[in-house]
Amino acid sequence: MPTLSLMPPEFSVVRDDNKCIKCLACVRQCGFDAQQYDAEDDRLYAIDANCVNCQRCVSICPAGALTIYKNPPPMRPNAHWTEGHLRNIVKQAETGGVLLTGMGNDQPFPPYFDRLLLNASQVTNPSIDPLREPMELRTYLGSRAEPVSREESKDKTRTPLVPIETPIMFSAMSYGSISHEAFESLARAAKAFGTLFNTGEGGLPEDLYEYADHAVVQVASGRFGVHAGYLNAGRVIEIKIGQGAKPGIGGHLPGEKITAPVAETRMIPEGTDALSPAPHHDIYSIEDLKQLIFTLKEATRYQKPVSVKISAVHNVAAIASGIARAGADIIAIDGFRGGTGAAPTMIRDHVGIPIELAIAAVDQRLREEGIRNRVSLVAAGGFRSSADVVKAIALGADAVYIATATLIALGCHLCQKCYTGKCSWGIATQDPYRSRRLNPEIGAERLYNLLRGWSHEIKEMLGGMGINSIESLRGNRLHLRGVGLNEVELKLLGVKHAGEAM
Ligand code: SF4
Ligand code: SF4
Repeated sequence: MPTLSLMPPEFSVVRDDNKCIKCLACVRQCGFDAQQYDAEDDRLYAIDANCVNCQRCVSICPAGALTIYKNPPPMRPNAHWTEGHLRNIVKQAETGGVLLTGMGNDQPFPPYFDRLLLNASQVTNPSIDPLREPMELRTYLGSRAEPVSREESKDKTRTPLVPIETPIMFSAMSYGSISHEAFESLARAAKAFGTLFNTGEGGLPEDLYEYADHAVVQVASGRFGVHAGYLNAGRVIEIKIGQGAKPGIGGHLPGEKITAPVAETRMIPEGTDALSPAPHHDIYSIEDLKQLIFTLKEATRYQKPVSVKISAVHNVAAIASGIARAGADIIAIDGFRGGTGAAPTMIRDHVGIPIELAIAAVDQRLREEGIRNRVSLVAAGGFRSSADVVKAIALGADAVYIATATLIALGCHLCQKCYTGKCSWGIATQDPYRSRRLNPEIGAERLYNLLRGWSHEIKEMLGGMGINSIESLRGNRLHLRGVGLNEVELKLLGVKHAGEAM
C-alpha cells in the first residue's frame, strides 16, 4: 500500500501573515481539514493536499488573508495525457477504486446554447415593452390532449394541468444528498414564486409537507420514502428512470449520510447505504412503464399528472414517443451536463448527449407523430442563464429544470466533492455543524431573487421578439439562428444558420 502519493497537490493555500489576525475561522470552517492550527506554536498552516478549492476559507476570512492557487501541471504538459488523466491514473493506481465525482460533466464539449442566437423585432411586428405591457410566463404542465368525442370528454382519468408562474422549476435533489437547510430553501422559494421543487429520490421530510403542493414527488428505482400519503401530497408525481449525470446506472448514498431524519424520510434503517438499482425491477418494457403510470394515477385518483424522467441518450426521441404513448403527462429529459451528488467520473463525463439536441429531436418526433399535445416537455441539464431557458423553449421545451444554478445561488463553488458529505458551504452535507451555515430563509430569498431576475430577463427577450406569451415561443425555432454549426447540427436542431432569412 503506497503511503506517499506520486502527485503533488492540485491547489496551494497561501496565507498572507501580514494580514492574518488568527481568528481561526478558516480552521473551523474548512470542511476538508486543509486549514490547521498548531496551538503549541500558535501557528496556522495549510495541508495543501486536502484542499479541494471550495473557497469557503477565502470567502469567510475577515482579513482577506487567503488565496488558493491552482498548481502547475504535475508533469511536462502533454495535450493527449492531460492533467486530469494523469491524476486519475495515479489515484486509481493507489486505490484500485472507481473514480467518483460530484456536480455535472465539466469536459469541454461544445455548448450548443452558445452557438444559438435569438431574434428581435425591428420595424414590423414591433417589440413589446414588458414593463408597460402584460407579458405571460405562466406555463401549464400536463397533457393537453383534447377530447374528440362526448364519451372522451366524460373521461375521469384525465389528470389536471398544473400551472407554474415561470417556466423554470427546481430539479430533483434529494434530502440526504443535500442538507435539510438546502432542501427547505428550495421548497420555500418554489412556494413563494409559484413554481415547483422536486424531492428527488429521497422522499419528503415530514416537517416540509406544508410545501408539498409545490413538490414534484419522485418515485425512483429504490422507492425510498414512497407511500400513499407522499404521492397524494405532491403536485406532480415523477417516475425517475434516468438522470443526465449518470445515464444507465443506479445511485448510491453512503451510510454516513443516512442520519436518523434522512433514514426516517427514506424509510430505511439509519446508517445503511441507500442503493438505487440501475433499472426499476418492475419495468422492462413500455407496457411495464404504462402499468406503473396507471398504478400511480389510480393511487391518486387521477389528480396528479405523472412525469417520466429520462437521461438524454442516443435514441431519446423514440423513447420519449413510447413514454407519451404509455400515458405520461410530462416527459423530463436530463442532458449530459446534469449534476449529481455522486457519480462515477467516467460515466458522468462520457455518457449521454447534449440537452439542446435532445429537446429538438423529441419535440420534432412528437410533432411528426401528432402526439406533442399529449405531454409537456421539461428540459434539464446545466442551464446557466435565462438565455439558455429561452433557447430551450424555442427549441421545443415547455419548461426547464434548474439545479446546479440553484446550488450556486446558495453558495456552492463547484468543487465537485459533494459525494464526500463534507461540503463546507452546508449544502451537500448532513453534518449539522456544516449545514447550519445555510439559513433556509436567506437561501429561499436568494433562490427567489434568481427566479425573479431570470423571469424578468425572459420577458425582455420575449418582448424583443414581439411575443407576449411564453407559450407562443414553444418550438418556434424560426426565432433561433445557429453560428458555427455544420449542416448536420443545424438539421438536428431544426434551425437556420445566422444570416439566413425567415
Ligand atoms: S475551506 Fe475549502 S478552499 Fe479553504 S482550505 Fe479548506 S478546502 Fe481549501
Ligand atoms: S455542493 Fe458543496 S461539495 Fe458540492 S460542489 Fe458545491 S460546494 Fe462543493
